[in-house]
Amino acid sequence: MAKTENEKKHYISRSESKRISKENSKAIRYYEKRKKRKVAPEEYTTEMKDEKNVVEFDDLHTYFFSDAGTVKAVNGVSFSIPAGSTVGVVGESGCGKSVTSLSLMQLVQAPSGQIVGGSIRFRASLFKRDARGRKIPVYETETNESGETVFKLDAKGKKVVKKNALGGNVYEMEDRVVDIAKMPAEAMRSIRGREISMIFQEPMTSLNPVFTIGNQLDEVGYLHIEGITKQQVKEHSIEMLRLVGIADPEGVYKKFPHELSGGMRQRVMIAIALLCNPKLIVADEPTTALDVTIQAQILDLLREIKKKINGSIMLITHDLGVVAEMADYVVVMYAGKVIETGTAEDIFDHPLHPYTIGLQKSKPTVDAEVDSLYCIPGFVPNPINMPNYCYFRDRCERCREQCSGEYPAFVQVTETHSVACYLYREKNAAPEKEEKDV
Ligand code: SF4
Repeated sequence: MAKTENEKKHYISRSESKRISKENSKAIRYYEKRKKRKVAPEEYTTEMKDEKNVVEFDDLHTYFFSDAGTVKAVNGVSFSIPAGSTVGVVGESGCGKSVTSLSLMQLVQAPSGQIVGGSIRFRASLFKRDARGRKIPVYETETNESGETVFKLDAKGKKVVKKNALGGNVYEMEDRVVDIAKMPAEAMRSIRGREISMIFQEPMTSLNPVFTIGNQLDEVGYLHIEGITKQQVKEHSIEMLRLVGIADPEGVYKKFPHELSGGMRQRVMIAIALLCNPKLIVADEPTTALDVTIQAQILDLLREIKKKINGSIMLITHDLGVVAEMADYVVVMYAGKVIETGTAEDIFDHPLHPYTIGLQKSKPTVDAEVDSLYCIPGFVPNPINMPNYCYFRDRCERCREQCSGEYPAFVQVTETHSVACYLYREKNAAPEKEEKDV
């Protein structure tokens, strides 16, 4: 049977396939080796561009080396998360929101998925290490009979390590800005779960069905709070379940995930994320699998918890309603790139990019009577062969001649609002000659 035009476009010859696979193996070997190598902390220590930020993504590139070619899932993403704020990342499915967050956690599906360039700067509290790479404990002191301050000794004559409020050992810490994109996997383990934690999309598939809720909560405690006893871990886990609004925390602690409702499971996920008081919570579509009333409860809970722990939230969603309710700042992504950023007010009251305007128009409203809902025409371009002009051009209703040229640069339209589109100019730029849409 003759091949259709579309089939021909995606056809890969045997020699082409061999070439792709050879290139992929070479690239994967290189990036895997880079992740496993032992590097001095100075090599991934960096500085924040703005001291008020907790995270700064800077020209991040995350690619997937597939048999059909290289998928540029995140292709030059730059934005920041100010401390104590909620940043909503929005866009259609497949635009790179989740891969951006997985890059931040160093959880991109390897070996095919790799961070290939750019930086993710994060302000972390790290353990100080001695010359042999061991953590340095803080010891209890006391005053002896002669009035001198000396180390407190236990019955065996060993120095007593200071304990924190949870019962874990206290170690010497240092504040350091690290580049997660360059950090070796081993060093990342002390940040993931303790400093940054993630609430995944579907709690039923994220929780392990063969372990009780208690087991899964305790595991995080044992991993990140050294020196804590079994009883203390259990008490802390139950306390976290209580904090996320579970009425019978002792009962739920003993249950398996399948015995809980969707809302309860999502609360458990939030409890796991909060266990070590993280600075940043990444919530990847935390309400997608839930019904509307539970959605509202979970969003209220996230807001409350953010205040309690004084942390920041990176909220990933395709639901503009959720973003409008929760976010201080909004980042709009399309086909692996950031196309518009601004405060929630900028994006919702004065959207600029035709894609953002299209997203707003596709939102159902209760006060307008319409025969059919608006939908943005066309599809996101094939991520393997991205065009070298504006990625939205083939779907854009306001396309101009210029749009077939280079990819538009980011322009700052106001103090807080930036967009990558030829329709707009820098806030102080001279007015441009009127150009008609084509
Ligand atoms: S640059 Fe051109 S094609 Fe792209 S969104 Fe703006 S107007 Fe549309």
